[in-house]
Amino acid sequence: MEDLKSNLTQFRDPQSKGEQAVANDSTCQKCHDIGFVSLANGVKSKCIECLEREIARKVALSIPARFRDQTFETYQPRNKLQVEALKRMSDEGPGEIGSYFLVGPYGCGKTHLLYSQYRNLSIGEPNFDLIYFFRTTHELLAELQSDQLEAANSRILLSLQLTRFRDPSEVHLFWDDADKFKVTDFKLEMLFHLVDLIYRTNAKLSVTSNLDLLELQEKLSPAICRRIDDICEKVKL
Ligand SMILES: [Zn+2]
Repeated sequence: MEDLKSNLTQFRDPQSKGEQAVANDSTCQKCHDIGFVSLANGVKSKCIECLEREIARKVALSIPARFRDQTFETYQPRNKLQVEALKRMSDEGPGEIGSYFLVGPYGCGKTHLLYSQYRNLSIGEPNFDLIYFFRTTHELLAELQSDQLEAANSRILLSLQLTRFRDPSEVHLFWDDADKFKVTDFKLEMLFHLVDLIYRTNAKLSVTSNLDLLELQEKLSPAICRRIDDICEKVKL
């Protein structure tokens, strides 16, 4: 199991850990910035705190500039639905990580809430047992396509496959704009494979869409939408 864990660490998505590292350049209390700590038996080991800070710094830098200040704190709800959505998503206790299907018209802050959850989990109170991926549909399809056509391993598929014997798996995919792409059979096949894998491995999935699940069905296919429906809590904005 340890091997699996260290394998996973290699595939940890650089887009997924956080921010205090950027804001907080103070000296590491554990290793005083040496990067190593001495274990009881005299063996030196890499400082986990420093490694985590480094991952967090990379994640924070990987968030596009225009989304960097999008947090639960800066989300300004303008109607009752949005107030409820914010409350539901920001009130998660430790250990209760939700999968959400965020639906609403353009400009209601779906992506803002998606980034907020992503930041909270990967940066705010990081749970380093989880691997987080943030992708737009365009990025997702590009990754899945090169996995299929160029045998370039998709980090998402790889992580899902590596964690498939765990329950729940350690992967959380944040998928922005699920309805924004031109449909082809090939794309639908790849997306089905991904969503089905998420479903079968009990992984987490948070999605945004302008179309509700019924409308989305016409585009994404009933098979994909049924799984999203099963995995995600519906949040209307
Ligand atoms: Zn350290």
